[in-house]
This record gives sequence, structure tokens and C-alpha cells, in this order.
Amino acid sequence: MAYYVNRNVKLTWWERSYLPEIIRGMYITSRHFFVNMFGFIPFFLGKKKEREIFTVYYPEEMVDYPIAYRGRPVLPMKEDGTPYCVACGLCEIACPAYCIDIIPAENSGKQNEVERWPAEFTIDYAVCIFCGNCEEACPEEAIFMSNDCEISMLDRKKMKYNLEQLLTPVAELQDRIDFTRNMYAKWNY
Ligand code: SF4
Ligand code: SF4
Repeated sequence: MAYYVNRNVKLTWWERSYLPEIIRGMYITSRHFFVNMFGFIPFFLGKKKEREIFTVYYPEEMVDYPIAYRGRPVLPMKEDGTPYCVACGLCEIACPAYCIDIIPAENSGKQNEVERWPAEFTIDYAVCIFCGNCEEACPEEAIFMSNDCEISMLDRKKMKYNLEQLLTPVAELQDRIDFTRNMYAKWNY
């Protein structure tokens, strides 16, 4: 369904002054600043068990990512170690960063029950913008956004993951799979 942006909204004089939004933004920023600055003091004085601050000591401490978080896209793996992907190429086309490359293989009629599969499937995380288009485009529930964002490395070439590196057990992605089923209502496709 197309979404249209109304560009003819008329702002009042008060809104055009931007003052309310500037004051609101400064209030939020200041509140975070002071809570972060003083929130650790009761903890260090032994009066509280937890620090009342927004930041964490990464990487020793990690935050719980919300289920809607989009980390690196991965391919769920069947119990026999193969992907669900049928190499249709829709994710490749939907990808705005052109970072998915698929080389399909086809059944000649006597190999196995799968008609088409990816002989190779690569995603270049150095180029990926983690938009989630590939996940939304896939008709086979064969690619999902994981919550893994720790992919930085010194050699860009190593950020291009192959099929073997992309395969991830379904159990690790189950929450995300359930989430996307609700979000995209894929059973209606
Ligand atoms: S998340 Fe976006 S940029 Fe990354 S592989 Fe998927 S479609 Fe491409
Ligand atoms: S991951 Fe999904 S959309 Fe991409 S090629 Fe495989 S089946 Fe098609």
C-alpha cells in the first residue's frame, strides 16, 4: 500500500518558531546528561545495587536488543544443514545496497526433492545497510535479520560472508521468525 506524505501542512506561528520543539529537545538531552552524570554515585557509595544510567560498559555489559532490532541478515538452516532458500533472487533484487550475490543451482530431475537451491550465497556486510528489505521480500522465510551487530573487522574482504557462514540454526532465530510472521503476515501471501 502506498504511503503519501502531505507536504502542504500549514504550521502556526508558534510552530514555525520551533521554540517548543527546541525546548523539548533540550529538556530530554539535559535529563539524560544529568541522570548519566549523577546516576552512578549511589551505586559507588553502596546505597544502590544498580547504576541508574542509560549507558553500559560495553563490551563487558550488553543491552538486550529489542526483537525489532535489525542486526546482520542470516539464513536459517534446516536440520540437515541446508538452507530454506530456493535461490529465487527476490532478496537480491530488493537489496538497495546490492550486497547479496546468489549463484543458483537447479535440479536436473533426478537429484533430490529440492528443485532449486543456492550453490553460493554471499552477503557483503561491509556494504549492507541493515534495512531488512531482503527479509521482507523473501517468500520462503529463508533470510532473517539476526540481533548480531558485532561484525566490524580490519579486513573488508572478510566481511563478505559465504553460505556456510550465513547458515544459522532456526532455534536461534525463532523469536525473530515469530515477530516477522506477525509483522508481515506472510501466511496471506
Ligand atoms: S539488510 Fe538491506 S542492505 Fe542488507 S542485505 Fe538485506 S536488503 Fe541488502
Ligand atoms: S533468501 Fe529468500 S528471497 Fe532470497 S533467494 Fe532465497 S528464497 Fe529467494
